[in-house]
Amino acid sequence: MAATATHPDATSKPTPLRLTDKHGRAITDLRVSVTDRCNYKCVYCRTGTEGAQYAELPIADYLRMVRVFVSLGIEKVRLTGGEPLLRKGLVEMVAALAGMRTSFAADGAPLAAGAGQPLDIALTTNGHLLEDLAQPLKEAGLGRITVSMDAVNREKFARITRVPDSFDKVLAGVRAAKRVGLDPVKVNCVLLRGFNEDQIVEFAKFSRDEGIIVRFIEFMPLEEDRVWTPEVVVRLKEILAALNKFQPVMPLAPNAASETALRYTFADGLGEMGIIAPVSHPFCGHCSRVRLTSDGKIRTCLFSQFDHDLYGVLRRGGDDAALAAFIQRTVNQKEARHHIGEPDFLKPSRSMVHIGG
Ligand code: SAM
Repeated sequence: MAATATHPDATSKPTPLRLTDKHGRAITDLRVSVTDRCNYKCVYCRTGTEGAQYAELPIADYLRMVRVFVSLGIEKVRLTGGEPLLRKGLVEMVAALAGMRTSFAADGAPLAAGAGQPLDIALTTNGHLLEDLAQPLKEAGLGRITVSMDAVNREKFARITRVPDSFDKVLAGVRAAKRVGLDPVKVNCVLLRGFNEDQIVEFAKFSRDEGIIVRFIEFMPLEEDRVWTPEVVVRLKEILAALNKFQPVMPLAPNAASETALRYTFADGLGEMGIIAPVSHPFCGHCSRVRLTSDGKIRTCLFSQFDHDLYGVLRRGGDDAALAAFIQRTVNQKEARHHIGEPDFLKPSRSMVHIGG
């Protein structure tokens, strides 16, 4: 069971300041898990056994909490899970998010209601149900999509996801996302020694052939089973070496200061590969993220030891000012960094599937 920090509900009016933490980082990105159910049992994430209790809130309650986050300066909302495409009401939720506007100008000045930019709305999915949902999601206002795909080889894909016959569905989903104009479409691949390190070059070819950005992710200790060891992690240096052996890679400039991926292409400009290296090259210093779990708890870091029960404030009748004050106080306490690989590292209080990646 996840630990919950006890905070007294605040009722005071929040100051109209953008969310920042005590380390001076502006918090502009919110990840919202809309379910912790998943139709995959990826070896690096789930136990492979059934029987867990699932946590989902009414879509209207997620939207109310998101609206308060947006009033405090959130500009990007990424929907995730669990598997978000399993969630009934997802398309309607995207449409409601598309109607929201940011609350601050680039210089930090508060804006009048409705005067801000549309939110940047993104979604992370395993793609199994994407082929049919790409068009409705796009029409509802979804901007960008990331599909998790850990092999471009059918057998390897099935071995990692522990789901037979899904590979072709995911491929069709990725192509449908591109066809309907979701932009960009990214594919995320978690590398795990002994499973898919031989897929690095295959994914580079996939990126070149399909015109899709592929990102390799270092495996983090966030799994339900205890399979993480430093040796299992395929690190940035090794990924770059494999790519360079195929063809020399060239670095690309970051799109934003808080970007998590280091970007690369090949000399002919074909293909884009990102490497997200939280283990070997942590990027906590410019982290701009905070998470809302599917049961309405704020997590200030993937590796937090505590959740902060925002939904509890709502359920007890807290008004928007109370929610805002709770969010501000909680986000202010965001951890400076994770401690992966250090002697004092403690496994987080929740696994990835129950946090929302
Ligand atoms: N079901 C959706 C999906 O598959 O994309 C969204 C949730 S999933 C938890 C989000 C992302 O987290 C996926 O790209 C997944 O590969 C990644 N992930 C899960 N466990 C991880 C771990 N231990 N280390 C690194 N990435 C992980």
